[in-house]
Amino acid sequence: MKITDLKGAIIGNNICLRVVTDAGIDGYSQVEEFKDFLFPNIEYYKKAIVGSDPTNVEGVMRRIRRLGAFKPWGKLVSSIEMALWDIAGKDAGVPVYKLLGGKVRDKVRVYCTMYSNEELPHPERFSIDPETRAENVLYLHEKYGFTIVKTALSFHNPGFTEMAIHDGLAYNSYPVEPPVQYFENANGSMLTKKGMDFLIHYVHRLRELVGDKVGLAFDCGPGMMPCDALRFAKGVEDCNVMWLEDMVTGDNEGYNMANLYRDITNNTTTNIHTGEQVYLRQNYREMIETQAVNILGPDPADVGGIAELKFIAEYANLHGILMAPHGVFDGVFGMAALTQVSCTMPQNYIAYEYPQAHPAWWYDIVEDLPEGFFKDGHVTVWDKPGIGVEFNIPKAEKYLRPEDKDFFL
Ligand SMILES: [Mg+2]
Repeated sequence: MKITDLKGAIIGNNICLRVVTDAGIDGYSQVEEFKDFLFPNIEYYKKAIVGSDPTNVEGVMRRIRRLGAFKPWGKLVSSIEMALWDIAGKDAGVPVYKLLGGKVRDKVRVYCTMYSNEELPHPERFSIDPETRAENVLYLHEKYGFTIVKTALSFHNPGFTEMAIHDGLAYNSYPVEPPVQYFENANGSMLTKKGMDFLIHYVHRLRELVGDKVGLAFDCGPGMMPCDALRFAKGVEDCNVMWLEDMVTGDNEGYNMANLYRDITNNTTTNIHTGEQVYLRQNYREMIETQAVNILGPDPADVGGIAELKFIAEYANLHGILMAPHGVFDGVFGMAALTQVSCTMPQNYIAYEYPQAHPAWWYDIVEDLPEGFFKDGHVTVWDKPGIGVEFNIPKAEKYLRPEDKDFFL
């Protein structure tokens, strides 16, 4: 079998990829939402993979793996990888998890990030008020069965950042002009006593309101100084949170600071998490070997694909490090890919970040998702050959842009 084309289309908020072969088998994948600026680069990767055998996934990846970098510049490489696995699975007549070593669980736990797109009683997803946030968290547990909910705090939260600037929660935070995102680490700085007290009280109050029904995780940065990150982590040790994420580095940055994380992690019992923007297993090596964090969160749509994520999970397990993969904006195909790889991970697997279809009509333009596949905060692994989801082409075609009209042809 040979690859004859790599096509792209923007459907809704996602670039979608189609790897075309001379055997009549197509591989599909989605790129994370709102990354349209990558679209012109599809042609660049196409030249590198046309003519190769897509069922030799690693052989194809060796042609393009060097042509990526930290988020978002590894996205097309990562999504091509997932489409290759889709072809390999379809060609072998098995779900992709069989090709990754087979599943060790029939259901995979997923977690909810509150700023995805579930309906909430309080639509202000970044509200910094613990009472309304607790109601939202409990709603996500009761309506969808989520057992872990992640919310934004510290410099990942625009409400906190506003307060840091205007109410004296930090020393050097300053407004950043649009379109720069609030959680640019440029906004971070050392916290004042008031700022630190606010964070520690906030977590205690949320824990008190939510009780032990839901695991609480906090997306916290980047932008905290290591001294503050440690003080915060120690200050919430009695709250038994799932994890504090990306406090120092780890989002919107093209590097890690493993040694800074190691010093925090070694001095607190609170779980420390990072990794969502990192490209390739090699860039996790120091974090894993020095046990710099307790939990890693690679995103298959950034790290180089699902096999890359599998390698990292196995190596992390040898070092007692847990896995909670990122994926909130990876779409329906991303959810399928996360399910395929997560069901193969060792016992260090916690949960992946569940991507709801966005917009909701995405569920109408795909096929093969079994009825009730998502229930009680878990995805039941299903057995369709390939990645597990297929476009319903007549329905999906209606959402194609005029310039992408030959995507399915
Ligand atoms: Mg994050």
